[in-house]
Amino acid sequence: MKTIGLLGGMSWESSLEYYRIINEEVKRRLGGLHSAQCLLWSFDFAEIEALQMAGNWDGAAQKMVAAAQSLERGGAEGIVICTNTMHKLVPQVQTAINIPILHIADTTAEKICADGLTTIGLLGTRFTMEQDFYKGRLIDNFGLKVITPNDADRKIIHDVIYDELCLGSVRDDSREKYLRIMDDLTAQGAQGVILGCTEITMLIKPEHTSIRLYDTTLLHALAAVDWALKA
Ligand code: GLU
Repeated sequence: MKTIGLLGGMSWESSLEYYRIINEEVKRRLGGLHSAQCLLWSFDFAEIEALQMAGNWDGAAQKMVAAAQSLERGGAEGIVICTNTMHKLVPQVQTAINIPILHIADTTAEKICADGLTTIGLLGTRFTMEQDFYKGRLIDNFGLKVITPNDADRKIIHDVIYDELCLGSVRDDSREKYLRIMDDLTAQGAQGVILGCTEITMLIKPEHTSIRLYDTTLLHALAAVDWALKA
């Protein structure tokens, strides 16, 4: 089994999900007392969020690079960045290490394409919904048509992530807002919706909607196990 290096704490609420899913999946596949061989770097998310809000992506990249290098020195053989948003910094991090990064957007897009879908809704932070590092990758590398909410709804999605989910608060009224926005995306032609923020899995579960969901936390964590168990 290869050693997975988790770059987490963004927020720790979702890192917990990664840790649980990865270990459950290794146990399911190998049986008995088997569990994942992994290292976790967990940031103080307040520091990361402050850099994001200030637009200081160079500062954030420095932290990500240092953490990824620590994981590599510690024995990690591959890196899993446990957040969609911070995949913005994949180019800087990848050039600074000698082990692969398992890209969350690629994992997700591969599943969408395998399911035969061509038009997909995207929920996530403003960074993820609006910038090219994520949306552009889905369009350019996978030929997907990506639909995002309007500006007012993007604000709702973004604020719930930072003001509630990253603080561990899961509210019914916020779920209703998300479901309404997801219905709007479907009405515009989305054949499914990417839960493109690793905390949304805490709020929206398959039992809440008939819309086809692409839960990036689940897909990414399962892809990490696939990679770790592959000879
Ligand atoms: N975990 C979130 C994501 O998947 C948001 C927190 C962050 O900014 O990293 O984008």
